[in-house]
Amino acid sequence: MAKYLGPVCKLCRREGEKLFLKGERCFTSKCAFEKRSFAPGMHGKSGSRSRSATGRESDFARQLRAKQKARRVYGTMERQFRRYYEFASKRRGLTGVNLLQLLETRLDNVIFRLGFASSRAQARLLSTHGHFTVN
Ligand code: SF4
Repeated sequence: MAKYLGPVCKLCRREGEKLFLKGERCFTSKCAFEKRSFAPGMHGKSGSRSRSATGRESDFARQLRAKQKARRVYGTMERQFRRYYEFASKRRGLTGVNLLQLLETRLDNVIFRLGFASSRAQARLLSTHGHFTVN
C-alpha cells in the first residue's frame, strides 16, 4: 500500500490542530504547530482557509476537513480510505461507526494503541518489517 511521504507537520497545521503524527517530538517545544499554528503556505496567516474559525466555512469544507483529518490520523491514502468507506457502508449499522471500527482494527493502529510504538507511522514500519505476526 502506498503511503504519504511528504511533510507531516504541515498536515497538522492544515487541520488546525495537533494530530500527533511524529511521536515524542509532538510533545516537545520542537512541534511545528506550537511554533506556527496557522495554515501552511504563502497565504497561511491571511488566506481564506485560515479564516474558517470565523464560521464562514461551507458544509462541504467542514466535511472535507473531517474526512482528511481521519485519513491523516490513520495514515491512509485516498483510495484506501475510500475502500474502507465502501466496506463500512455495506456493513450493518452506522457507516461512521463501522468506518472507525475498520480503521481502529488496522494492525499498525493496534500496535500503536498497545504502546509498542510512539506513532502510527512507527507502528506501520514495525508491522511491514515483519516484527509482528497475527494469530
Ligand atoms: Fe503535528 Fe507532531 Fe508535527 Fe506537532 S510535531 S505539528 S503534533 S506532527
